[in-house]
Amino acid sequence: MAKLVTTVNKARCVMSGDCMENAPSVFQMDEEGKSEVFDQSGAADAVIIAAARSCPVKAITVVDQQSGVQLFPPPKK
Ligand code: SF4
Repeated sequence: MAKLVTTVNKARCVMSGDCMENAPSVFQMDEEGKSEVFDQSGAADAVIIAAARSCPVKAITVVDQQSGVQLFPPPKK
């Protein structure tokens, strides 16, 4: 399983809660109601990527730590 590094751009987060609903063991709400990652390896890779994909404003970025490849959003070509 790839080791993922997941980050939330809080400036972009609109507090929809989708990521926390899809991967509650990875994302939690901070004191301002924005999402934050509290456990980088709290769910399977596919679950984390699906949670990132569920974000309506694409505030979540997922990078494969080993290769440095950005898995989501897909890098622009
Ligand atoms: S899905 Fe996106 S907008 Fe919604 S809480 Fe998570 S990071 Fe914020």
